[in-house]
Amino acid sequence: MPPEVTTTTAEVVICGAGIAGVAAAYHLAVRRGVRDVVLIDERAPLTLTSDKSAECYRNWWPGPGDAMVALMTRSIDLLEELARESDNVFRMNRRGYLFATADPARASELVHFAEEASGFGAGPVRRHERRDSDYRPAPAEGFEGQPTGIDVITDRSIIRREFGWLTEDTIALVHARRCGWFSGQQLGMYMLERARDKGVRFLEGRVEAVETAGGRVSAVKVSGAGGARTLATPRFVDAAGPFVGRVARLLGVDLPVFCERHGKVAFNDVLGAIPRSAPLTIWCDPVRLPWSDEERSELADSEHRRLLEEFPAGVHGRPEGAGESQSILLIWTYDVAPVTPTFPVEFDPSFAEITIRGMSRMVPALAGYLSRLPRAFVDGGYYTKTRENRLLSGPLPVEGAYVIGALSGYGMMSSNGAADLLADHVTGRALPHYAPAFLPSRYDDPAYRALLETWGDSGQL
Ligand SMILES: Cc1cc2nc3c(=O)[nH]c(=O)nc-3n(C[C@H](O)[C@H](O)[C@H](O)COP(=O)(O)OP(=O)(O)OC[C@H]3O[C@@H](n4cnc5c(N)ncnc54)[C@H](O)[C@@H]3O)c2cc1C
Repeated sequence: MPPEVTTTTAEVVICGAGIAGVAAAYHLAVRRGVRDVVLIDERAPLTLTSDKSAECYRNWWPGPGDAMVALMTRSIDLLEELARESDNVFRMNRRGYLFATADPARASELVHFAEEASGFGAGPVRRHERRDSDYRPAPAEGFEGQPTGIDVITDRSIIRREFGWLTEDTIALVHARRCGWFSGQQLGMYMLERARDKGVRFLEGRVEAVETAGGRVSAVKVSGAGGARTLATPRFVDAAGPFVGRVARLLGVDLPVFCERHGKVAFNDVLGAIPRSAPLTIWCDPVRLPWSDEERSELADSEHRRLLEEFPAGVHGRPEGAGESQSILLIWTYDVAPVTPTFPVEFDPSFAEITIRGMSRMVPALAGYLSRLPRAFVDGGYYTKTRENRLLSGPLPVEGAYVIGALSGYGMMSSNGAADLLADHVTGRALPHYAPAFLPSRYDDPAYRALLETWGDSGQL
């Protein structure tokens, strides 16, 4: 744990030591040489949302424009730099995201998305329409020397040969290649240590107020075990995760953000339904849960009738852990109603069963668990989002105040790109071309607000 803060001034105070705040501290102190950065959290670093993630990354993002792909490309470049310099302490791999479908219309849509992402800079699209096509599977470990871009596989014999564990009616696979996963905790701890080496100090406590003088930030009031204290500072960064809106209101600023609850299921795949070397695999079609005739008629007459209806597309999963690990992670957000974040997070008691049933549509061997469900661990947190699912990184309307937040379901992968951008804002450096797409002030522009009305895919999985 970084040392306690004893001084009463700081150059920059960051509220929140999740991945956003830690990355912000790292980019300010280590990459921009800003001294005297104080990171404040009422919890231990990286323990609220940032240890609940599925820890995946991807350069596959929709428009409009190339902003998401460009920011994420920068973020993945930075992740790769960190992986190289640390001897890959956070075990970054490059297994890819594998999108699967049994629906010809959905297959065409996936190809369209692939071409769109490619046009935004995600790399070339390679078509594999014949048995002898040169599709190159991803290695289980490491990230060097791998293709970027997207493989579109429509030859059924390649699908069976390489991914025989998927349902036989899979007609198309889209394998996005500059994608994979890593240990988010290890990444966060690595950046926190480097930041600490450059003088970043951690203060355990709760930010209660942000004071201004002459219209600009002047001090931050913190309560904690040692009592209340005030830190004089000209700069304040709101990195409060699900509470980013609440903390902005301390400055009288209303952020256009909301939260969704998202869970993940982990259990030991003793049947070996998903190979240990598999990519993150996503079923892109809506699903009807499998039930026996008896279960079906029982459900039809019960309050759980909904379980007989169609569930949305997007159930996905991957193997987790190295060596002898048998663990797999499954994720399916079939209910995305906005909620007020409360902790501990509570989940539908049938979440694990519904997710395993849903995933068995894509991976039939998972049906082996349905007669006797495995002991599953359910965990999760909140996606904090803007309406169009694009994060916030930049100045707030009070001078000296900034935000890095609304990192949604992609905060581990985007944290470096978002924090690099934030550090450019804070230090007054030249900004990259994608900066305007992430400014909190973008909503002041009537043309942007009009665009929101016709916004298409938000890129959420
Ligand atoms: C189920 C699930 C799966 C996910 N999968 C992925 C994935 O595969 N890939 C990916 O990239 N992302 C994923 N994410 C998203 C990712 O986890 C988040 O985007 C990210 O963790 C958000 O980080 P944060 O720093 O903004 O928030 P947090 O980690 O929540 O940190 C915010 C911190 O602010 C502190 N704080 C708040 N208010 C105050 C205050 N007043 N005073 C002091 N401290 C305060 C809190 O204590 C907390 O520690 C997933 C998320 C979930 C829930």
